[in-house]
Amino acid sequence: MTGYNHHAEGQTGGNDRGEDDSVRDPAELSSPVVPRDCPSCRSPSIHHRIEVRSKVDLEINPGDVLDEYWGGFRRDDFFFDYVRCGSCGLLYNSEYLRDDLIAHAYSDMEDNTSGVPQHLLRKTQGRYVTAMENIAPMDGVYLEIGPDIGLAAKLAVERGSISKLVLVEPNRATHNALSLLAPTVDTVVLESIDEVDRGIQVDRLFLVHVLDHLANPRDDLVDLRKRMAAGGLLAVVVHNEASFLRRVLGRRWPPFRLQHPQLFSRRTLTTLIESCDFKVLKVRSTFNTFSARHLFATGLSMVGLEPRWLSRVPEFALTVPLGNIIAIAEAT
Ligand SMILES: [Zn+2]
Repeated sequence: MTGYNHHAEGQTGGNDRGEDDSVRDPAELSSPVVPRDCPSCRSPSIHHRIEVRSKVDLEINPGDVLDEYWGGFRRDDFFFDYVRCGSCGLLYNSEYLRDDLIAHAYSDMEDNTSGVPQHLLRKTQGRYVTAMENIAPMDGVYLEIGPDIGLAAKLAVERGSISKLVLVEPNRATHNALSLLAPTVDTVVLESIDEVDRGIQVDRLFLVHVLDHLANPRDDLVDLRKRMAAGGLLAVVVHNEASFLRRVLGRRWPPFRLQHPQLFSRRTLTTLIESCDFKVLKVRSTFNTFSARHLFATGLSMVGLEPRWLSRVPEFALTVPLGNIIAIAEAT
């Protein structure tokens, strides 16, 4: 993997460090960290109190290799402090990485499945599809942001009558697999939300662990709403920062990490979605199916232990509430 600095050098003709800085792109030398106001209601951050401080103090400087911080569940993981919006209640970072740095980091990742066997991932994704099917069947144009390896999209095609798949995945490594996901259905694979055809009328929109990753979640949601048919359905899955697990673990709760510039509760998720011309039909806890071995590995690395003896843990499936929530909403 390459850091953003390396990447930027590639674009400007491969300058080595030590060469005259005047030939470099000015953006490369500007601060990698930018201030933000509440990304849901725009209330100024200056009024908001820090609620969760990072486990480690760290300064990010121009030229740092972002990938060093972007990795997995390490004990010393750095994240930006989270403040609580006094106006809408959202928990968010009042400073975050510049958009171009984030885009590059996401374009160059391994898939997000962290070694969980695919049949178990399918069970978890199947619950998300069912939550929407409880309102209406899987019909019409299906759009998913961050489909990863496309498990939910494939289930939607198998279980309903999807006429078109539009899959927006910043991680190019999965594009080939995504384009072959459903050979009988017209499939478009794109890299960013901006590339989605403005004239499209989306009927089923899935955002699974996406809204808490976006630097500008409200702007993106407003843009997506414009591409939806009235009566179209939206499913959003996010971590629940008001969950029991978060209260027990405090700042060691794993979703407190660099990749999550904001984290939601049922209330703040509903507020954001409904501010973008959707009516939330239901919000409830959702369950994840893991292998016992994967769960142990995650737990061990969270407390800083090497999971060397893990091969002795039997391989069986566990369905657990990990403090995630799903909201189903209708475009109004
Ligand atoms: Zn707010």
